[in-house]
Amino acid sequence: MAFALNLYPWIYVAKYDGSKWSEEFIEQPHLSPDEETALPHERRQELMTQRNHVPGLPLVNYTTQYGLGCFEGLKALPQKDGSLKVFRPDRNAHRMHRSMEGLMMPAYPEDLFVNAVCELTRRNARLGFRPDYDPSWEAENYRDGHAIYIRPFTYSEPAIGLGISKNPWVVIIQTPVSSYFTYPNSKAVTTHRFRATVGGTGWIKCNANYVSAILAKKEAEAQGYMEAVFLDAKTGTFVEEGSSCNIFFYLRNGKLVTPDLGDTILPGITRASIIQLARDMGLEVEERRIGIEEALEESQEIFVTGTAAGVSPIESLTHQGRTNVLPHGDKGEVARKLQSTLKGIQYGAIPDKYGWLYDAT
Ligand SMILES: *Cc1c(COP(=O)(O)O)cnc(C)c1O
Repeated sequence: MAFALNLYPWIYVAKYDGSKWSEEFIEQPHLSPDEETALPHERRQELMTQRNHVPGLPLVNYTTQYGLGCFEGLKALPQKDGSLKVFRPDRNAHRMHRSMEGLMMPAYPEDLFVNAVCELTRRNARLGFRPDYDPSWEAENYRDGHAIYIRPFTYSEPAIGLGISKNPWVVIIQTPVSSYFTYPNSKAVTTHRFRATVGGTGWIKCNANYVSAILAKKEAEAQGYMEAVFLDAKTGTFVEEGSSCNIFFYLRNGKLVTPDLGDTILPGITRASIIQLARDMGLEVEERRIGIEEALEESQEIFVTGTAAGVSPIESLTHQGRTNVLPHGDKGEVARKLQSTLKGIQYGAIPDKYGWLYDAT
């Protein structure tokens, strides 16, 4: 995913005062999108730096010092009819609520989340900050489609001693994103690191979980792979996740398998959507433990899922020097079909019979 820190001008900030949430939409400095594009590089960087700064948020707090925070990632997508729609914001609202409870914070109400995400999308779009639908995306099943990435996150009150956040902020920002693939291959390798432990925070979308994921991914990249695959911390034999995405195995027996949710697996919304789409296509889906040996020997296709990548086929999986090379790209039939169905629904080319899209026009 091509990601840049080009914040859209409107930012949302909510603050918990001990009994209620007060909400504020903040319009950061901006020109028109065209004028901003025409700015000299340095001037544009200056503007982006200004926008990435909300006065009043403390430098030293539980989030910046101890990683005590959580976040979400979701997308608003331009539709063929000119409207903008957000994909399953109710699910992200629910997960953020659970995450905050998991971090012993007062949880941010789910209806506020959904309304804030949609209203922020509308405000930025009204200023012209939105991608326009491009019919040329259809030829490649929206592989090159653009979208708005929405990032809600928590931020704690000022603090230096160890403690929990009782009066957090919830901030929501938006940034443009294109989904095209920038990495030269899609090879995956298992990592010796562990992302989550039983009794830990693996099920929470929290900042702290990303440390080992980022380190593992960088190590995998240094060895020429795109993705690191985590095994379970207890036995080192069961597959858990990619570095920041869920993982699926289409086996020789025709079953689609993904690790079942426990407290070490992040409950991806793309994961849940793909399970539903696969079942509705007539595939048998199993949520269960899958050993690395079975994954290596029995997989016909492997793909990872997440908001950023959608469905992303893996061309090979390597574990302790052994490699399973898989059909991928256009050859991975199951991944391709699931990806085109998911993207088709997201961009409005396939009817949204599940009610997954929320209007944000
Ligand atoms: C966010 C995340 C995912 C993917 O979740 P989606 O809701 O599909 O974007 C998977 N694994 C981890 C560890 C994550 O943080």
